[in-house]
Amino acid sequence: MQEDSTPTMTDQLPSALESLEELVGRLRGRKAVMFIDYDGTLTPIVERPELAILSQEMRQALRELAGQCTVAVVSGRDLADVRRLVNIEDLLYAGSHGFDISGPEGHMDYQQGREYLPALDQAEQALRRSLQDIAGCQVERKRFAIAVHFRRVADDDLSKVEKAVDQILESHENLRKTGGKKIFELRPDLPWDKGKAIRWILQQLGMHREEVLPFYIGDDLTDEDAFRELRERGITILVRDENRPTAAHFALEEPAQVCVFLHRLAQSIKRGGKLVGTH
Ligand SMILES: [Mg+2]
Repeated sequence: MQEDSTPTMTDQLPSALESLEELVGRLRGRKAVMFIDYDGTLTPIVERPELAILSQEMRQALRELAGQCTVAVVSGRDLADVRRLVNIEDLLYAGSHGFDISGPEGHMDYQQGREYLPALDQAEQALRRSLQDIAGCQVERKRFAIAVHFRRVADDDLSKVEKAVDQILESHENLRKTGGKKIFELRPDLPWDKGKAIRWILQQLGMHREEVLPFYIGDDLTDEDAFRELRERGITILVRDENRPTAAHFALEEPAQVCVFLHRLAQSIKRGGKLVGTH
């Protein structure tokens, strides 16, 4: 495993499935914690965000793993939305890229940036107004972010979308723009991201120590903050598509492989850290 700080290209990463024996070996005598993204990781990327439904196999693999270790779903989606889609009670959920965190039975509720809600409300209205005539453009309000989805926008209209987003950003200095797969997003301009959120969760759980081995699986640019946060102390896995620099250690090819990985990891922990075969 590389320990330097230079990002690797995604196509250079070793397969997490082929490296499972090494990973399970690192777990021996330690507790695992799994942080996992939703879109593109637990479900394939789809044309419309509301169609990203979790498969029964994936839900089963998540339940299996949650029986063996703490599992937290860390998503750019709104907290209520990601919780409804995953629909497993005893998981931790972090929505809006970690700005909105909630544990099982209301434990560990935490919200970052509540004072930014009025600015988000205003920017949302302005975005809806200025983007309403662009075909295929979808504005999605999450509690702590506004996503502008342009996957279905014609190429000729893309610059109009970005221009409109940038104009609104200019009049809301306390918001900042981030990006991801076919999405622009406005969120509070605070030093907070998925990486900071998982650091906070680990501390709250008393799991910021050596005897804990955190895993993180994600597919997008916002997951890179988590990869960097856990680069020295955890195991980070990218679900890869296009070739780009990444701070992750390992890769999986698609959500179907994530499902196999979660299942085999759960089985291995159950059997006391011994690797189990494919079945
Ligand atoms: Mg994702």
